[in-house]
Formats: sequence, structure tokens, C-alpha cells
Amino acid sequence: MTQSQAPITQDVHTIPRKLPEGGKVNLIGLTRDQLRAALIEAGTPEKQAKMRVGQIWQWLYYWGVRDFAAMTNLAKDYRAMLDEKFEITLPEIVSKQVSEDGTRKYLLKIAGGHEVEAVYIPEESRGTLCISSQVGCTLTCSFCHTGTQKLVRNLTPGEIVGQVMLARDDLGEWPEKNSPKNETRLVSNVVLMGMGEPLYNFENVRDAMQVVMDGEGISLSRRRITLSTSGVVPEIAKTAEEIGCLLAVSFHATTDEVRDKLVPINKRWNIETLLNALREYPRLSNSERITFEYVMLKGVNDSDEDARRLVKLIRGIPAKINLIPFNEWPGAPYERSDWERIESFADIIYKAGYASPIRTPRGEDIMAACGQLKSATERARKSRAQIQAEAGL
Ligand code: SAH
Ligand code: SF4
Repeated sequence: MTQSQAPITQDVHTIPRKLPEGGKVNLIGLTRDQLRAALIEAGTPEKQAKMRVGQIWQWLYYWGVRDFAAMTNLAKDYRAMLDEKFEITLPEIVSKQVSEDGTRKYLLKIAGGHEVEAVYIPEESRGTLCISSQVGCTLTCSFCHTGTQKLVRNLTPGEIVGQVMLARDDLGEWPEKNSPKNETRLVSNVVLMGMGEPLYNFENVRDAMQVVMDGEGISLSRRRITLSTSGVVPEIAKTAEEIGCLLAVSFHATTDEVRDKLVPINKRWNIETLLNALREYPRLSNSERITFEYVMLKGVNDSDEDARRLVKLIRGIPAKINLIPFNEWPGAPYERSDWERIESFADIIYKAGYASPIRTPRGEDIMAACGQLKSATERARKSRAQIQAEAGL
């Protein structure tokens, strides 16, 4: 239950949020309450505000409309007022790459010229959009490409929601007027597993997910959203209470000694502290089980003994263990475990009664796989030696 004193990360979740002064306010990413307040401030009579919020919300998030002029159930002068004071702005798609397996990787430009990535992974029964929560990441997990990026900034709620909207644009998923409702969802699931640590940008991620989950808009159920954290313990209960989505945790090791090296936030909140927080999560969020992500690194964390220790550690927590074959990137100080090793590890977990899917690497030809995302504006990597030194190798 100890917390190390070592200040291993800069807490970026304290960056104050404020609306821009002067310029137009972007409507994308405002919660219903914030939208209401903004409309009232712009002169909408309080009595009408709720109705206006409902109308605008539906245009933005149900129909995917980007132009105030198209909001035909609003009076012309009201639309003109909106146009004058507000904007509907999304990140800009700089490039799109489509993998041989259908995975799509979008490179997006956001305010300030920063770039982030989002990845769409089509599968037979669902389509998963992997979105980013930060430019880069303040944490420095030694096996993660994003963690080598120095530049970091939190994404705004609009930039987070915007990733979902852009993917729907690209896939042509917005409903069409006068055509029958299409229940097939192309973006059926969202995972916060792109760039960044979502729990170091808690408020923005929470607000963005409120928008995405809203039943009169994009309407993704909270059970179709999975937030992955490296283990920011104080925010875990808040995630259950204020977002209620599914939780995945980047576990990756079965001893503090190894986890300290792979996921350095472990020095702050160790395995025991993390597990205690996780034990509470299913009850607090009324969800079934937690996904334990476990990256398979050759000779580092992949022994049968590790598998047995893992099973022991998580006893009592409703869980699924997702084994991720390490996605190699240039200069990475690790190798992917052999296939037989991964299977042997999976077998031990499976026999202990846990689902232990091995994640099929997707989009490898376009560097779209987990942990490979990294902004193109910041390709200046740390050297291999630097990475190894930080990993204590
Ligand atoms: N910061 C969050 C979410 C983004 S990372 C987190 O760490 O959970 C999404 C997942 O990809 C995490 O489980 C992460 O540990 C894993 N990952 C990172 N780099 C990887 C790599 N090179 N190969 C495989 N998985 C990786
Ligand atoms: Fe950040 Fe997650 Fe990568 Fe760790 S694994 S450096 S927390 S993005």
C-alpha cells in the first residue's frame, strides 16, 4: 500500500480548461449543460434553452451536420446568430492509411499544429475505433512507442469526440434523411487505447464520453466503450462513477520489480495498490469484468511462472486477460515472445478459468497496432541506449 515519493511523472491533468476568449466557441465536445450555458450567454432566452440544446444536439450528433444553415428547424436569424458566435470544428484529417486487413489509420491535425492518430479496426461482428486522449504521453513505459514522444498536450473534449465523428464521416455512417434507420453500426465500439494516458486527462475524457454516450446523438452504450489505463489509481473509482465504461488495465508484469521497469507508474502505485482499486471497479461501475492487458515480451514477463503468478494475483476479480504480442517498433528494446510461449502462457490462464484471447496484431503494415502510435510531428526518438537506460536494462 506504499506510494513511492519519486516524482516520476508530470501531472498534466491540472492544465486549466477555459473557453477561448473573443473567438468563436466550438460546439463540438460541449456537454449538454455547457451547451445550454453557452446558448444562454449568446442571448437564447432561458425558457427556450433546453429545446434549443435538444435541436442542436440532434443536428450535430445524430445527423452529423456541420453547417448551421442546414439546421432547418431553427429560425433563420437564430441560425445566423449561431454562425456568428459559434463554430463546428473537428480535427483535420491529414492522411489516411488503409491496411491490407482493412484497418484504417487516420493522422489528425489539431489546434497548434499537433498531430494525433486514431485507428479503425473492422471485425466480423463489430468495428472498433481506437482513439487518442493526449498528444504523446507523460508516462514512459519502456515498450511503448508513444512513451518515447516528448511533446505532450491534453486533447480537448472536442478533439476526442471529433475522432469518433471523423471516423463516422469516413465510413459514411451518419444516417440519411428519409431513409430507413440503419441499425448496423460501423463504429460499434470505442477503445481509449491510442496515444496518451486517458486518466491523466480525466475531465476531458469524461466529458467527451458523455457526448459519445448520449442517447440522442452518437449513442454508444457505456458497455461499448473501454478505457485503458496504465494504473492511475486515484482516478479509477472516479472512472467507474463518472463514466461507467469498461476498464482495461495495462498490467504487463507479475512482480513490482519487473512492472517498475515496464510501466514506471508502478513506482507510484504498485501492483497491490492497483489491484485493490480494481477489485472495487466492477461494483462501482456495475460492469462485469476488467480486461487485464498483458504485452508478451520475450524473456521478460512471459514465463509459465509469470502466468501462474498472474492468475494468483487477480483471484477474486472478474477478469479477462488480453495477451498482446509485442508490436515491435524501430529501436524498441524488446522482442515479441515466440508463438509457442504465448500459447503456453495462455493455456495456464485458460485452465485457471479465465478467458485469455491472444490479440491478433492488426494493421501492422501501416504501424497502426497498439503502442505504435506516435505523432509524425515528433519523430525525433530517444536513442536505443537512452530507452534501455530508462528501463534499467
Ligand atoms: N496509456 C494507456 C492507453 C494507451 S496504450 C495504457 O497504457 O493503458 C494501449 C495499450 O497498448 C496498453 O495496454 C499498452 O500497454 C499497450 N502497448 C503499448 N505499446 C505496445 C507495444 N509496442 N506492443 C503491444 N502493446 C503495447
Ligand atoms: Fe503512455 Fe500507455 Fe504508452 Fe505507457 S503504454 S507510455 S501509459 S500510452
